[in-house]
Amino acid sequence: MPLKNENLTRNQKIVLDLLKNTKEPLGAYTILTNIEKKGIKAPLQVYRALDKLIESGKVHKIESKNAYIICKNSNCNSLKSTSFLICEKCDSVSEIKRNNLKQDLSILSEESGFNYANHNLEIYGLCKSCGD
Ligand SMILES: [Zn+2]
Ligand SMILES: [Zn+2]
Repeated sequence: MPLKNENLTRNQKIVLDLLKNTKEPLGAYTILTNIEKKGIKAPLQVYRALDKLIESGKVHKIESKNAYIICKNSNCNSLKSTSFLICEKCDSVSEIKRNNLKQDLSILSEESGFNYANHNLEIYGLCKSCGD
């Protein structure tokens, strides 16, 4: 999904810029503390901006951490589904860039007579630098 920013509101741009410059996923209140200087004072403003950014696929929510991270996968084709590798040691998060994952999981679900809709996959372990 190409990052087109022209339709973003000012608040959405501010939140997106912060996430672009941060490696780790950020919680909504951390986001708020970081952008308070720019005139965003209410958590609701942050949540609204995040909702829109998630809807457009620019940002993903990591459910287990209740935190948000920018999408770095230019081929990210799923807005509702997310797949992450999360390091248990350094907390680094990377998005799994595999476009047929959705298809694989859908087939897997079908085998159990289950109708796949979407997924939030979080795989825990050690990242490359921590695993060495
Ligand atoms: Zn993505
Ligand atoms: Zn690590």
